[in-house]
Amino acid sequence: MSLETTVQTSAFTTLSPVPANPFSQEEFDRHVMTTYGRFPIALERGAGCRVWDTEGKEYLDFVAGIATCTLGHAHPAMIDAVTQQISTLHHVSNLYYTPQQGELARWLIEHSCADQAFFCNSGAEANEGAIKLARKYAHTVLKIADPVILTAQASFHGRTLATITATGQPKYQQNFSPLVPGFHYIPYNDIAALEATIAELDKDERRVAAILLEALQGEGGVRPGDRAYFQRIREICDAKGILLILDEVQVGMGRTGKLWGYENLGIEPDIFTSAKGLGGGIPIGALLAKQFCCVFQPGDHASTFGGNPFACGVALSVCHTLEQENLLANAQERGEQLRAGLTAIAQKYPDLVAEVRGWGLINGLVLQESANLTAAELVKAAIQEGVLLVPAGPKVVRFVPPLIVTADEVTEALQALEQAMATVTLPA
Ligand SMILES: *Cc1c(COP(=O)(O)O)cnc(C)c1O
Repeated sequence: MSLETTVQTSAFTTLSPVPANPFSQEEFDRHVMTTYGRFPIALERGAGCRVWDTEGKEYLDFVAGIATCTLGHAHPAMIDAVTQQISTLHHVSNLYYTPQQGELARWLIEHSCADQAFFCNSGAEANEGAIKLARKYAHTVLKIADPVILTAQASFHGRTLATITATGQPKYQQNFSPLVPGFHYIPYNDIAALEATIAELDKDERRVAAILLEALQGEGGVRPGDRAYFQRIREICDAKGILLILDEVQVGMGRTGKLWGYENLGIEPDIFTSAKGLGGGIPIGALLAKQFCCVFQPGDHASTFGGNPFACGVALSVCHTLEQENLLANAQERGEQLRAGLTAIAQKYPDLVAEVRGWGLINGLVLQESANLTAAELVKAAIQEGVLLVPAGPKVVRFVPPLIVTADEVTEALQALEQAMATVTLPA
């Protein structure tokens, strides 16, 4: 594979052209820390739900920057917002008021159960803020000396030290000890285990301050939350004064066909976090909370870049476009179409596929544990057929296309997947 490409200058620039400086995969791997196992293609351009590599090959993008590019690539609303903000004001810090931050906070509050927002730059940072807010609430309001936050096994909450500790998957924690104290894991969708854990931890003195969960576990295998489970948790939290925190980083902003994942469960969290889809691919995160638990005071928490007018202006354009283009309805309809197609493929390959599951436009094709096929192998075969997919764990292939995806594009992706399945099942 060659990653050679000529560096093109923008049509708008008045600067002299940047000299071509071809790079290679070998050089890239020498200079960039090897934290990722990358697929061997180099992408250089995108439009709508499609991207092109440096050799001109076209792909349908059902990864969307890992569920971030809500409006796909090069959407006119985002181009306008980016251009507008970069040519007026992009960053001044939180020492001052900026209209875009206020307008984004207003939109999020008018469209959710929250009363206040704090802005940051990523999902992990939003969850760090939620953990700090819950701990301050525990110390100052609940008067808990040694607070514990319950999180789920197979969850994913980010890669900072506190968020890998919150993440209930040992593989993300290995070799990074000492971890952050104050977390305890429970099996997901298991109400008896949750009740037993609270009883055990609170035996001598009250310790459980908050429960942090995903409405649907994304990285952990596209596992939807159970309605009865979450409704019972809400009752327990209300009865005991425990905070319910939902990590909406992957499923929020319309991904499930509802604006927030919790709407699928018929409950409201006290605190929730958003990031991935919020900026349509521009980095931004948000911590949102109901009034009663907004205990931060000046100096308690901060972020230099958080809530800058650039990111907030772009996120606002994403919010407005979700409404104007009726993208929640599209996510529901295209999601149903995709699940129907995946189910047909599953029925054709019962030895390989165990299950199809998901909500709206976050869906997983779950491979049989016994099958001699991994998610990564199927993803590689799909790339060959011109569609980008991403594993969610070793045995689940995840489908998270932009929310603007069309019926024809879903059909095309399903056909490519059929081809990929045919290839991986060919006798060696
Ligand atoms: C991706 C993800 C995170 C981490 O977000 P980053 O922006 O990578 O820090 C946290 N929680 C969930 C549910 C996620 O899917």
